[in-house]
Amino acid sequence: MHELPEMPPRAALIAGEWVTTPHTLRVEAPATGETLTEIARCGAEHVEEAVRAARCAFDGKLGEWHRWSARQRGEWLFAFAAAIDTDAEALAALECADTGKPMSQAKGDIAVCARYFRFYAGAADKLHGETIPFENDFTVLTLREPFGVCAQIIPWNYPAQIFGRCVAAALAAGNSVVLKPAEDACLSVLRLAQIAVRCGLPSGVLNVIPGLGGEAGAALSAHALIDHLSFTGSPATGTRVTQAAAANHVPVTMELGGKSPQVVFADADLDTALAAVVRGIIQNAGQTCSAGSRLLVEASCYDAVIAALAERFSALRCDAGEKDPDCGPLINARQREKLEVRLAAAKDDGIRVAAAGQVAGGAPGGGHFVVPQMLVDIPEYHDVVREELFGPVLAVQRFDDEDDAVRLANATDFGLCAGIWTRDGGRQLRLAKRIRSGQVFVNNYGAAGGIELPFGGVRRSGHGREKGFEGLKSYTQLKTVAIKHG
Ligand code: NAD
Repeated sequence: MHELPEMPPRAALIAGEWVTTPHTLRVEAPATGETLTEIARCGAEHVEEAVRAARCAFDGKLGEWHRWSARQRGEWLFAFAAAIDTDAEALAALECADTGKPMSQAKGDIAVCARYFRFYAGAADKLHGETIPFENDFTVLTLREPFGVCAQIIPWNYPAQIFGRCVAAALAAGNSVVLKPAEDACLSVLRLAQIAVRCGLPSGVLNVIPGLGGEAGAALSAHALIDHLSFTGSPATGTRVTQAAAANHVPVTMELGGKSPQVVFADADLDTALAAVVRGIIQNAGQTCSAGSRLLVEASCYDAVIAALAERFSALRCDAGEKDPDCGPLINARQREKLEVRLAAAKDDGIRVAAAGQVAGGAPGGGHFVVPQMLVDIPEYHDVVREELFGPVLAVQRFDDEDDAVRLANATDFGLCAGIWTRDGGRQLRLAKRIRSGQVFVNNYGAAGGIELPFGGVRRSGHGREKGFEGLKSYTQLKTVAIKHG
């Protein structure tokens, strides 16, 4: 492994102080299985302190956050983005070691994190309510106000990016934050918190409480003093978190999983489409909520597509992240074993691996590698086309016509993303409307990650929107003020 940057504190950030915990959690490098460092293991008592600190910061009993204007908050966010840029190399090295993702992707993630802070910095003073025409002797207006204390529970697959997405928007809107990063990867988040303190963020405005989901996460989602909860993770945990928050009638935003289809018609620019199909499933070793994990191919070009994809998959190499391979390891042994069990069951059901990449010869031992692969001969309602596998596994199906493509695309309970590849303009629009999904990408997949575009799911993929201006609005609530004249 390359030399690592200095590790972040083995502590939680609460009320502007780094607080150690009696117990810690081991942090493993997914590429080697080696111990990287330890992190704090917060319990309910730390959650209590963090929520109270955030409450005090918001209410004006701690620091001066409540006095900052929208413009001042924007200025701080700009300064923080610049500080992220300055530390980008070290942050990327932490992200690469901690998640196992290729270095180029880790660098991209840090750049995206800074971009979130810039976007919401510029947006902070452009958020406003409206005046509403009513009876003549009234003036009615809406105020767009922060919620107060925002609880944020985030996963391990894109720690820095999701930190940027949630924290930048919540702070721009004037909230204070208690963030529970994932126990499997949160080193970049802890370093970002250190940078935030260095940049002069008032105490208590951002509190970061590493720990286990069932401990710190459960205590945070059930806390009576939080005003809003944003969760990114699995649908099962999302249900638990929603139930806990519902006990206090706390509004939630849920960014959950996906089983997103890429629909390829014979008239598409196949070279561009297939390159995007491969990228869409190997990015972050398939551990991406928006991974294009299903490929639906028009029957007339099916054989040609399979042959071309087989060549591309066979050329893919897995290795440690800092060697910048096509694909890094999965996050931990548990995720790898879960995936291997499902792949073995698929094989027993007659599903065939049409092509697969390889683990590079010199790859470190002890890593949690699963080679990128393409599955074919899949029974229509099999699990591998309906359930999230969260690995670099593409499930391919064939369709006959547009109706058949829509039927297959919608044959899952998820609805996060869809890619449509065709040169036919009418078909682009028809499919964009008929596929049940939060996002539809036509002749591209992912819109280059555009942070400016609202993002979120339908059905089991979640509800509410993050990213873009919608994301900023989602961290505010409306107050209606009706004034009767004289
Ligand atoms: P997870 O649900 O197990 O964990 C997510 C977070 O929830 C972690 O911080 C974890 O500690 C916490 N958590 C776990 N149990 C909890 C509990 N009982 N109460 C409160 N918090 C708890 O998910 P994961 O395995 O870490 O992440 C993978 C999943 O996340 C996939 O399903 C993926 O699709 C989804 N995901 C979605 C998006 C999106 O934007 N839609 C982004 C990334 C990941």
